[in-house]
Amino acid sequence: MTTATRPAKEIKQPRPLPPPNSDFYDVYETLNAEELAILKQVRGFMESKVAPIITKYWADDAFPFELLPAFKELNIGGLGMQGYECRGGSLALLGFVMMEMARIDPSIATFFGVHDGLAMGSIYIDGSEEQKQKWLPPMARMEKIGCFGLTEPLVGSGTAGGLTTTAKREGDTWILNGQKKWIGNSTWCDVSIIWARDLADNQVKGFIVENKTTPGFSVEKIQHKIALKVVQNGLITLDNVRVPEENRLQGGNSFKDTARVLKMTRYAVAWMATGCAMGAYEAALQYAQTRLQFGKPIGSFQMVQDLLAKMIQNITASQCLLTRMAQLHVEGKLSDAHAALAKAFATAKSRETVAWARELLGGNGISSDYKVARFFADAEALYSYEGTYQMQNLIIGKAVTGLSAFV
Ligand SMILES: Cc1cc2nc3c(=O)[nH]c(=O)nc-3n(C[C@H](O)[C@H](O)[C@H](O)COP(=O)(O)OP(=O)(O)OC[C@H]3O[C@@H](n4cnc5c(N)ncnc54)[C@H](O)[C@@H]3O)c2cc1C
Repeated sequence: MTTATRPAKEIKQPRPLPPPNSDFYDVYETLNAEELAILKQVRGFMESKVAPIITKYWADDAFPFELLPAFKELNIGGLGMQGYECRGGSLALLGFVMMEMARIDPSIATFFGVHDGLAMGSIYIDGSEEQKQKWLPPMARMEKIGCFGLTEPLVGSGTAGGLTTTAKREGDTWILNGQKKWIGNSTWCDVSIIWARDLADNQVKGFIVENKTTPGFSVEKIQHKIALKVVQNGLITLDNVRVPEENRLQGGNSFKDTARVLKMTRYAVAWMATGCAMGAYEAALQYAQTRLQFGKPIGSFQMVQDLLAKMIQNITASQCLLTRMAQLHVEGKLSDAHAALAKAFATAKSRETVAWARELLGGNGISSDYKVARFFADAEALYSYEGTYQMQNLIIGKAVTGLSAFV
């Protein structure tokens, strides 16, 4: 037998390592084929368009307006809302989409969550039929972008207890005065939902303000953030802003109506927080498989595997909880306490998970050149916005004890 015909000596190849997968219990399989197709589209957009550029925008504190045309083409405005040119779809799909976006970038998920969940959601939940017909279609097409102004410089967790921004009715016009702090998208968006206290009955009411053309409405960009740096947050000043009665949310007559919007958005933030943890975990796992120390991948060390095991436990527990929460939502059983529990649990676990991911990267974990630092910082904002951990726990505490600990 010549060497040419002799079978080649088998060279032992190293076993390929599994690619990072943050869906350990196959929760994505709970979606149907049509929903998975939409999710795949979102994943494609996030991975091909957002991922390559987002770190630079994050470092520069800037919003990537160049992404808006492709974002519009995704056609996901009004996801989970029916009619009014909204995308529709199930509430479970909405949750998965928010998670999928945050897996690549929590800022982009937040931008969309503010526009879609908070701004459109306020009109969808608290608007009259005419208001929905007028405002939702252009917002669903993302021709008009929205923001949601509830928090104030001096009133955050205590918004239910009394806003300082006031609304005074004069005939068919309302006059708004006050300030709103931290308002995402507000530096550049078109439509602001402003919550103010009616001086006549002391109740919280919502107003649709065309902020670019309404005199007395000004916004100052909030500088020096260390989290969600891509989202442009603003300090809004309302100086005798005149809003017609037809722009008062007709179904928003007290803070209870504001809370109906917040229930929906806390639902979404719980998914986003889990996506944030997934992004950090996947980046950390990839790093563990490739970073060598002592001549071996650090992923082969027991204590590094312990970190990874704890991360995927947190993620999987959150995903399972969220999947059940989505079922409750579809069944019309989702209570404020259900949403609060998911928001509190998922954001706390996300915060813990991204910290382990940061730790796993050693020194590189604090550099924004590596993705993990961005997730690490962004998890802090998710933990506090949409109601802090303590506020969610007060809602849960009231539900389980029957006793309110709110002051
Ligand atoms: C990045 C970012 C984006 C945001 N986007 C928006 C937006 O688009 N629109 C909007 O309206 N708001 C927005 N917010 C505001 C956000 O919702 C508030 O920051 C949040 O509700 C907390 O309010 P606060 O910051 O005033 O904290 P505070 O209310 O001053 O709370 C400070 C601390 O005290 C604790 N605390 C307060 N009261 C109690 C109590 N009774 N018992 C126990 N502990 C308590 C809190 O849990 C917290 O730890 C955003 C915030 C951030 C950081």
